[in-house]
Amino acid sequence: MPTAIEIFKHLPKKNCGDCKFPTCLAFAMQLANNKAKLDDCPHLSEAGKNALASSSAPPIRLVKVGVGRTAVDMGDETELYRHDKRFFHPVAFALRLADDLGEDDLYKRLSYARSLRFERVGQVLKLDMLELECRSGNAERFASFAKKVSAETDLPLVLRAKDATVLSAANLIKDRRPLLHGADASNLKEMCAVAKGCALPLVVGADDLNGLADLVEAARKEGVEDLVLDPRPANLKELLERCTIIRRSAIRKTFRGLGYPIYLSIPAGRDGMLMASTAVMKYGSLLSFEELPASNALPLMVLRQNIYTDPQVPIQVKPDLYPVNNPGPEAPLLFTTNFSLTFFTVMSDLEKSKVPVWLQVVDTEGLSVLTAYSAGKLTAESVKNALTATGALERSRQGRLIIPGMVARMAVKLNEATGLQIVVGPKESSGLPKFLRS
Ligand code: SF4
Repeated sequence: MPTAIEIFKHLPKKNCGDCKFPTCLAFAMQLANNKAKLDDCPHLSEAGKNALASSSAPPIRLVKVGVGRTAVDMGDETELYRHDKRFFHPVAFALRLADDLGEDDLYKRLSYARSLRFERVGQVLKLDMLELECRSGNAERFASFAKKVSAETDLPLVLRAKDATVLSAANLIKDRRPLLHGADASNLKEMCAVAKGCALPLVVGADDLNGLADLVEAARKEGVEDLVLDPRPANLKELLERCTIIRRSAIRKTFRGLGYPIYLSIPAGRDGMLMASTAVMKYGSLLSFEELPASNALPLMVLRQNIYTDPQVPIQVKPDLYPVNNPGPEAPLLFTTNFSLTFFTVMSDLEKSKVPVWLQVVDTEGLSVLTAYSAGKLTAESVKNALTATGALERSRQGRLIIPGMVARMAVKLNEATGLQIVVGPKESSGLPKFLRS
């Protein structure tokens, strides 16, 4: 979004108040803060509208692939560094399926793709897309392959072919809004015709960034606006350089012509894993994997989860009373905070102990135990209120409360506030099983 002064230059400067702000400058300031809309000024000239619309366009175009609840949004990022604000649209992972696969192998691979699913800190980590590649060179075979896979999955699809005639199979499943891959300098016009005809997004690829920028310009002239860039890095160094230049030039607006999401083809093996982990951190929007063993998928998905959470908002769980291992009224009562990493670690150690317990989760705005205590978010009062709100003392009738060893110094105040006998537990949650059993 341009600054208020940049916006002001394009306004009519009548100060008429028809936009419900007393002056054009006041209107410009509201517009710059997203508190007003361009249309609120009825006197803005066409030239002014166009200038402001293009300068307020997102630095990286939003491209949607797929439809419904599994659709993937790519691009529309505003930051170069995550800590400046946050990254918004997590890089998508696609597994490649070639059209020369036999029937059995295809179904095995589809079932493997479905199995790539993990749960961590209450979130599901999974594969986002399938990429269908034409290796047979046969248009009919590819079209029937695309239809068959499309009927088997609701994941968004990428259709990849070097030939526009083959890629026109997209017409059969265009309602699924697949992403088309395969446009380069040799076939751009034909590929654009397919993408435009089906109203689908298109990946353009080149071996250098100048060539890529030329292709983007040419594709836009052909009427295709939803573009994705394939910078075709041959190694880790090229990947890092090219992705960084693309992102930097878009965000800093030094060159708007590369303001599109980035597609990267990830080779199998150790080099592929290094490239993929770098691309997760450095600006990939869609990674297409030749092979994605679960042993690679899990760390990559965890890395993605960490990079794409909001650094200013910790992941939290619902403050509540949680039964663990089927507890009754004689089961002990413990508490922890609602920072999800703390919660899931404690939960897993409690489950491991096989001892029935009640776990009270106290709302600390997502802070861990010691941080919350230091910040005054975990106090004897807040623990007491949490126990009262959930009726914890009616569920656990032991009259005792086990507290984290890290906050042993809360013991006296907690005893005064709740009347419970306070038992100081281990400092680390890994000590809970032994502690509870004893
Ligand atoms: Fe200025 Fe337009 Fe608002 Fe009138 S309506 S004050 S011209 S911005």
